[in-house]
Amino acid sequence: MKLYHALQSQGFGTRKICVARVRAGEVAVNGEVCDDPEAKVDPAQLELTLDGVAWPYREKAYVLMYKPAGYECSHHTSHHPSVFSLLPAPLVQRGVQCVGRLDQDSTGLLLFSDDGQFIHRMTSPKKDVAKVYRAACADPVSDAMLEALRSGVQLNDEPAPIAALACEKLDETTLRLTLAEGKYHQVKRMVGATGNRVVSLHREAIGQFALPESLLPGAWRWLETDELKHLE
Ligand code: URA
Repeated sequence: MKLYHALQSQGFGTRKICVARVRAGEVAVNGEVCDDPEAKVDPAQLELTLDGVAWPYREKAYVLMYKPAGYECSHHTSHHPSVFSLLPAPLVQRGVQCVGRLDQDSTGLLLFSDDGQFIHRMTSPKKDVAKVYRAACADPVSDAMLEALRSGVQLNDEPAPIAALACEKLDETTLRLTLAEGKYHQVKRMVGATGNRVVSLHREAIGQFALPESLLPGAWRWLETDELKHLE
């Protein structure tokens, strides 16, 4: 693969921009500055350095983020900044998409990728990928509420009641809820259907991917190959 092409594929801009950056001596290949845009590079052993940041070559991008409250999960937002503004420009440029959204006021795990098959695998209604949420409620969590969520609640516009895969009371007003689906405002609507109300919502996990304890709100990290090996 040619160097300018490798740069383009990793989101560093158009062919013209990548060629110019290489010619300007702004790009190091495995630690050595290379000013030949056509130089042959091996994607299997390639680390690009630009602006002092090292970028191991990745054919596809898989990223997890701790979404803070007050960010919207779309590119063109209306009232709040976009979660994409928390990612470095090359990741956005290469077209990563949000793998299952969170509401503006929700926090917790978000996945991003530019691998269409992975996005489909994680979001298809047929795959039943479990999403785990912690929901703080306005009123105490009653046994009747737990029972309703476990056996199924009727939401507007849904043909049949929807049940949580699992549901447990964490403290007086806090629930942990595991859902198979990813319907619009699903947790808020399900809790609302029991007569209670969600006051804050946090996603702890999507399938096999849990929010790492070391990640701070607003921070992101790559998912590594071994974490992607055994997709449930
Ligand atoms: N369910 C909701 O109601 N909101 C979210 O952000 C995610 C799931």
